[in-house]
Amino acid sequence: MKKVLGVYGPGSNHWVGDGFPVRNMFPSNGLKDEINPFLMLDYAGPSYFEPSKKSHGVGEHPHRGFETVTIAYQGAVEHRDSAGNAGVIFPGDVQWMTAASGVVHEEMHEKEFAKNGGTFEMIQLWVNLPKTVKMSKPRYQGITKEQIPSVDLGNDSYARVIAGELHGARGPAITFTPINLFDVRLAVGSKVELRIPEGHYTGVFVLKGDIVLNGVDSIKGEARIATLSPEGELVALEAKEDSTLLVLSGEPINEPVFSYGPFVMNTRDEIMQAVRDYNDGKMGHLA
Ligand code: MN
Repeated sequence: MKKVLGVYGPGSNHWVGDGFPVRNMFPSNGLKDEINPFLMLDYAGPSYFEPSKKSHGVGEHPHRGFETVTIAYQGAVEHRDSAGNAGVIFPGDVQWMTAASGVVHEEMHEKEFAKNGGTFEMIQLWVNLPKTVKMSKPRYQGITKEQIPSVDLGNDSYARVIAGELHGARGPAITFTPINLFDVRLAVGSKVELRIPEGHYTGVFVLKGDIVLNGVDSIKGEARIATLSPEGELVALEAKEDSTLLVLSGEPINEPVFSYGPFVMNTRDEIMQAVRDYNDGKMGHLA
């Protein structure tokens, strides 16, 4: 069984642009090494937005050196980028964007959602890339709800496999290093064991609910994340009430991390180069 290393609440609450009121689940709370290869997790909402003629969101900005993964729970986000990709992320969909050598994009509330208003709830997760592919070509995976297999966990509980493998089901997301990402819903009374490979650092993020982890640690309420050791394979979850969880695991990337805002590279020089390249328009612009 994997060992629970810690349980954390959000480190900061802030707005990303005017569309994403987020609770940051790492690294602002100091959680960093125990969640390698993941760099950042923002939990936006759930928040109600009034009907609006103007779409809220975050305008043109760059990324280099990692991947952004957006998971939609409620509401919808419209995305377009300098590599020519565009799409809408609806509830149940996942966008897996590899910024790699550099992308400029915008992330806005989808027009119909903005017009009608409603509850907005999203996660954005940043996944690090190994040094060898940080400067590779950007890539875009728009993954729809229908493409994501669901593993029946009994008692009206299930896990949607976004990336990696769970109990024989494979997720559609293509990743550069071994990563698991599961959207897990547990009905009250469910007791399940997830098998996660030896060597993976693991996070169990409880969006809401009440979970007993490995028979001991209680994670109750909203926006709490537990980390587990690379040693061991099993993660035992018992739901004391209906719960929504995101389980993330991966092999750590043991390379230096130098980050500055939207750029995550290995050295300070590479960060300065990223700033110059962005300012020189080398990451492109939105049409
Ligand atoms: Mn972005």
